[in-house]
Amino acid sequence: MEHIYDDECIFCKIIKGEIKSAIVKENEYCIAFNDVSPKAKTHILIVPKTHVKDIMYLDDFYMCKVLETIKEIASELGLDEKGFRVINNCGKEAGQSVFHVHFHLLSGSIKF
Ligand code: AMP
Ligand code: ZN
Repeated sequence: MEHIYDDECIFCKIIKGEIKSAIVKENEYCIAFNDVSPKAKTHILIVPKTHVKDIMYLDDFYMCKVLETIKEIASELGLDEKGFRVINNCGKEAGQSVFHVHFHLLSGSIKF
């Protein structure tokens, strides 16, 4: 599958390896890395490897891959037992600041 990137986008740069990040998991369709400004003990961003600005533009295929990746990470980190929260901010009034769709996976001492 062909992935579409935006040269100006910070998350596309992370996907392409042009900016460093603490990668937690990566597969053909998604990358997951630690949030640089964590709001919880565990704060990971799950990002589809295609540049769409928000969840309204994300197709079902990528949404499924994101969900699979979230569940894999949760199991691997034992969060399926401990509990976790998934957040997506869509648009400015929701507080979205990076306009490449992404999902926050949070667990432990959540400060949101
Ligand atoms: P949102 O406000 O939902 O768009 O979330 C964007 C998130 O991206 C924020 O929690 C930021 O801390 C995080 N962030 C921005 N730049 C980076 C980066 N280079 N590496 C990791 N996380 C980042
Ligand atoms: Zn992007």
